[in-house]
Amino acid sequence: MTVGPGVLTIDLGAIQANWRTLSKLVAPAECAAVVKADAYGLGAEQVIPALGAAGCRTFFVATLAEGIQARQLAPSARVFVLNGLIDDTAIGPVRQADVIPVLSTLAEVTSYARFARASGRRWPAALHLDSGLNRLGLSARDVSTLSAMPDVFEPLDIVLVMSHLASADDPADRKNAAQRSAFDVLRCGLPAAPASLAASDGLMLGAHFHYDVVRPGYALYGGQAFGGGPTPVAPVVTLAVRVLQVREVAVGETVGYSATWTAQRPSRIAVLAAGYADGLPRTLSAGTGREASFVRIKGHRAPLIGRVSMDLVTVDVTSFPDRVERGDLAMVLEPHLSIEQLARAGDTIGYEILTRLGRRFERNYVEGTA
Ligand SMILES: *Cc1c(COP(=O)(O)O)cnc(C)c1O
Repeated sequence: MTVGPGVLTIDLGAIQANWRTLSKLVAPAECAAVVKADAYGLGAEQVIPALGAAGCRTFFVATLAEGIQARQLAPSARVFVLNGLIDDTAIGPVRQADVIPVLSTLAEVTSYARFARASGRRWPAALHLDSGLNRLGLSARDVSTLSAMPDVFEPLDIVLVMSHLASADDPADRKNAAQRSAFDVLRCGLPAAPASLAASDGLMLGAHFHYDVVRPGYALYGGQAFGGGPTPVAPVVTLAVRVLQVREVAVGETVGYSATWTAQRPSRIAVLAAGYADGLPRTLSAGTGREASFVRIKGHRAPLIGRVSMDLVTVDVTSFPDRVERGDLAMVLEPHLSIEQLARAGDTIGYEILTRLGRRFERNYVEGTA
């Protein structure tokens, strides 16, 4: 380990194993991989080739820039750009990068069709239907408008029709079935094409949610957002942060900004080299989350105390059997201290923890045992 504030270890072998596991789970549906936001903060440059080597042939990203990068990293794969065409100026770069825009508005569909027609070629495209999330997607009214325009799809090769679930993490939520029915009704008004509805949680709802392609992101990175039981994936990230200093704090002294913590006993406080600028939510500051915040040092729990600051956080090591020293490592994430636990303690979700993991940590990519 170098002199940096900490080491973020990313197990590419575990990501590959997770993709293979989910692939088997959803077969004969195809398992794609969502690698938007720099592969959920873990590094598209490493993650995309690893998934390609595992056999993944279809990638989803959010933006055109991410699509261009994915195209370079997976030259023979299909790359879908979820955010579609910002405006007509995106069409040239989309064609040049050979990525597939996911079209969510009437304007995008008609524009893309017009340009395709002028080119004299059929261009691949995906359609995003809104089945009740009310985020991106063509509405029922848009779909009926399109079905009344018989030639609009002629110059387009619709390779995927997709929608996205609002509450897939809760298998008891009736919105899941309602969205599935809405998706099926909407698809009837459009050219027949392979379909996709499920992301990480949706694919856990059962085979009738799998359709032709599933689109997990979070679960590939070890995420466990599904509320109906464990998703069969292994943890991917560990984060070890250095202890910069250990100090004795007398009874009545306070620690940190706004003096939110007061020593009730003579205390030993370890100062760690990571803060909210490194992705530790400031909401971890003692007592605000649904669970206590802690790190693990030498196998023991050290509770966070006081406020998380930009580059530092403080933990209580008073009752530690082994003396904690400057230079020791504090585990912020490890298999037994998950992104979900950290998220609950910080009143957020594991997705946010992952995508914000700091760029100041040394990154160690390992192949694992998979
Ligand atoms: C982000 C995203 C996904 C992946 O979701 P996970 O919960 O990370 O599996 C799939 N589809 C769409 C439309 C998305 O925006």
